[in-house]
Amino acid sequence: MSDSTSFHMTPDEFRRQGRAVVDWIADYYERVETLPVMARVQPGEIRAALDPAPPQRGEPFETILADMEKLMPGITHWQSPNFFAFFPANTSGPSILGELISAGLGVQGMLWATSPACTELETHVLDWVADALGLPAKFKSNSAGGGMIQDSASSAVLCALLAARERASDNQINERGGNDKLVAYASTQTHSSLEKAMGIAGLGRKNLRLIAVDETFALRVDELERQIQADRAAGLAPFFVCATVGTTSSNAMDPIAAIGARCQQEKLWLHIDAAMSGTAALCPEFRALQNGVEFADSYSFDPHKWMFTNFDCDCFFVADRAALIKALSILPEYLRNQATESGAVIDYRDWHVPLGRRFRALKLWFVLRYYGIEGLRHHVRAHVALAQNFAEQIRQSENFELVAPPPLNLVCFRHVNGDAFNRQLLERLNASGRIYLTHTLLNDQYTLRFCVGQNNTQARHVDAAWRLIQQTAQEIESENA
Ligand code: PLP
Repeated sequence: MSDSTSFHMTPDEFRRQGRAVVDWIADYYERVETLPVMARVQPGEIRAALDPAPPQRGEPFETILADMEKLMPGITHWQSPNFFAFFPANTSGPSILGELISAGLGVQGMLWATSPACTELETHVLDWVADALGLPAKFKSNSAGGGMIQDSASSAVLCALLAARERASDNQINERGGNDKLVAYASTQTHSSLEKAMGIAGLGRKNLRLIAVDETFALRVDELERQIQADRAAGLAPFFVCATVGTTSSNAMDPIAAIGARCQQEKLWLHIDAAMSGTAALCPEFRALQNGVEFADSYSFDPHKWMFTNFDCDCFFVADRAALIKALSILPEYLRNQATESGAVIDYRDWHVPLGRRFRALKLWFVLRYYGIEGLRHHVRAHVALAQNFAEQIRQSENFELVAPPPLNLVCFRHVNGDAFNRQLLERLNASGRIYLTHTLLNDQYTLRFCVGQNNTQARHVDAAWRLIQQTAQEIESENA
C-alpha cells in the first residue's frame, strides 16, 4: 500500500513491487510462444472489461498488476517467436532495464544543462553506432555533423525535410513563411511518413514526386533525373530526395550511389531512410546494400525495429548540424544558461520537434554493451539466414512464388491462385493464432510478407510456419474444389 499520508509508493514497496513486475515480464517471455500471436478481440471488448471510472481511493499494487490479465487478450504478441508481421520490434532484457532506469531517473534532457549525462551519453553512443554501421565520419560528433535519438523514423524524415527546406531557402522560411516552389522526390515505395512530413512542413503533399521503380521495386534514377529536369523547366525548385535502404513493402534497396551522385550534381539534400535494414549494416557483408551512403546529408534507422531496443529509438545522423539547428532552434529567456551560451555543449532540443526529451540513450547503451557488436551481428546473420532459407522453400515450391527479391530478412511471396486466395490464406493463418503475417500490394498483386527478426525465432519456428502455410493453402484448395 502507499504511504497513507502522502499517497506515494515508498522506496520499500517500490523495491518489492518492482521485483514482482520484473517477474511478471520474465514469466511473460517464458510463455509468449504459447499465446495466440495476433489479438483476437472485438472492438470495445477490452474497454468493457475495465472499471468505468478511476478509483477514488488508491488500490493495492497487487490488484493493479493482476488486472494485466484483463488486457492480455487484447495484446498482439510482438515478442513472440512466431511474429512475422510488419517488421520486428524486438526489445530485450538490457533494453528494458535501461528504460527502467531512465524512467527511474526521470530526467529531462532538453538542454545539456538539465542533465549533462543525458546529452553526453547520447552523443557518445551515437558515435559508437556510426562506427558500428560503417557510416561516414561526417556523421560523428567531432565533425560538422552528429547523431541524436529521435522518437521515430517519421520524426527523423520530418527534421531532415525541415533542415533541407531552410537550407534551400537561405534560412528564410522560419522568418517569413512558405515557399511553394520546393519539390521533394522519393520512390513510389517510400514510407508514407515522408508524405505526412511534406504536409506537416507546409510544403504540400502535391510537391512530393513519387518516382517509378524498377523490377526490384527500387527507385529508377533515369526517372528521377527526368522529373527533376521537368520541374526545373517548370520554374520549380527541387531540394530534397529520400532514398530507402529496405522499403517497407518489399525491402527494396534504392541505388544510393547513383541517387547520391545526382543529388550532389543538383545540390539536393539526400536523406536515407534505413528504418529496419540499417541494422544489417552492423555486418560488413551487408554494407554494400547502402553503398553511396557518403553522399547522404542525413541518415536514419530504428534500433526499435531490429536492434533489440524497445520503442522508441530512432538514430538520426546529419552531416551539417548547423542546418538542422538553424531550422529548429528556439531560445526563450527561461532556457538561457551559461553552458548554452558558451557554445561548448550540445542542446538536443534544437535537433528535433519537441522541447523535452527522455534519456533514451541509456537503453541503447545497455544493448550495445550487453550484446557487443559481435552479439548483434550474430542475431542479424541468423535472421537473414532463416529468411533466406524460407525464400528458398518458396522458390522450390510449385504453388508459391516470390514476388520480390529478398535481400535480407523479409520475404514477399504469394500463392499462385490469385488475390482472393491469398487474402483468404492470410486471414486464416492469422486467425489460427499460430503465426502472424501481414500483406502488401506489389505490382497490384496481393502479396504476403514474412519478416524474420524476433529475438527467439529459430529454424523450428520458420519451418513450422512454412508447414502451416502449405497445409492451410491445401485446406482452402480442397474446400474450394
Ligand atoms: N521508414 C520505413 C522504411 C519503415 O519501414 C517504417 C516503418 O515501418 C518507417 C519509416 C516509419 O517508422 P517509425 O515508426 O519509426 O516512424
